[in-house]
Amino acid sequence: MKQERDLVIIGGGAAGLSAAQYGARANLDTLLIEEMAPGGQALLIDGLENYPGILEPINGYDFSERLRAQAEAFGAEILSASVTSVSKSGDRFILETTEGRIEALAVILATGAVHRHIGVPGEEEFQGRGVSYCATCDGPFFKGKRMLVVGGGDAACDEAMFLSKLSDRVILTHRREAFRAQKSLVDRILNNPRIEIRLNTVVREIKGSKKVEAVVLEELGGKGLYDEAVDAVFVFIGSDPKSSLAGSATRDEAGSILTDERMETSVTGLFAAGDVRVSPFRQIVTACSDGAVAAHCAALHIDGVKAGQASAPQGS
Ligand code: NAP
Repeated sequence: MKQERDLVIIGGGAAGLSAAQYGARANLDTLLIEEMAPGGQALLIDGLENYPGILEPINGYDFSERLRAQAEAFGAEILSASVTSVSKSGDRFILETTEGRIEALAVILATGAVHRHIGVPGEEEFQGRGVSYCATCDGPFFKGKRMLVVGGGDAACDEAMFLSKLSDRVILTHRREAFRAQKSLVDRILNNPRIEIRLNTVVREIKGSKKVEAVVLEELGGKGLYDEAVDAVFVFIGSDPKSSLAGSATRDEAGSILTDERMETSVTGLFAAGDVRVSPFRQIVTACSDGAVAAHCAALHIDGVKAGQASAPQGS
């Protein structure tokens, strides 16, 4: 494998794959590094229905496969490896990876985010035995069973809708009175007779013997603590950015990377795209857009670096 590249993209979700497509199409020697299967969080989507121009809902796996195939068709290379560090020396970035050292003139961080945990007793213990963070992956195991969904954002509402196709005993708990999710989703939840909504309610404990059997819920300002028998707990309470490779790049208090409108971070030549960066709205379409902008501006940056190198005096 070539060790010196124009552009290296870290992360193979919608943002990274879009960046790879745009980078390769701009004739950059483009390498995308991903430690898992390409696709990122989009892989978990049952039916993607709000991507412009795609009328029939498409499975997240199929959509991701198309992104990957398109990026590779334009000439991007995909490497299965973990990046352990990114540093900068002069105009070059040096990436240490499990497949060796790679140098690049620009780097796009598209490392995404990881799901948050509630942090209550039983959550870690029952992971894989009733506690899940992926309805598409684990929902079918609980067909017809009692399922509890935690969260009040788009993910919780989307996933509760999905789970309600598998069971008519879905309870959605949210810690506040009002949902954070888009109104259209909330309306669908409210009108779904298979979903029972419990607001101002928090999970205090997840209980069971070999697998989840019940949760301890607390209705804030209401009936206090009570047990609810459930077979599964699906947690969708947001995510934390995977920004540890961003070095000295400026982040917000949540750890998300700050970029300008060109997706460039506070480190020249280091770009960020998708869920890892500060953004008011996180969608597949915004991730793809971030990736395209980042690759385009990385190409301009790389042109500048190459022009500087070409005009530098011999030996410098
Ligand atoms: P989110 O929008 O950050 O919502 C997280 C929800 O979890 C909030 O309602 C929050 O409550 C609640 N929460 C946070 N910490 C909690 C805790 N410790 N205990 C209980 N509840 C807690 O996260 P998300 O729903 O994962 O969405 C992330 C991004 O992806 C958003 O930009 C979203 O629009 C996007 N997304 C879009 C779609 C779609 O368009 N169909 C689907 C999925 C995700 P509070 O409201 O009280 O803060």
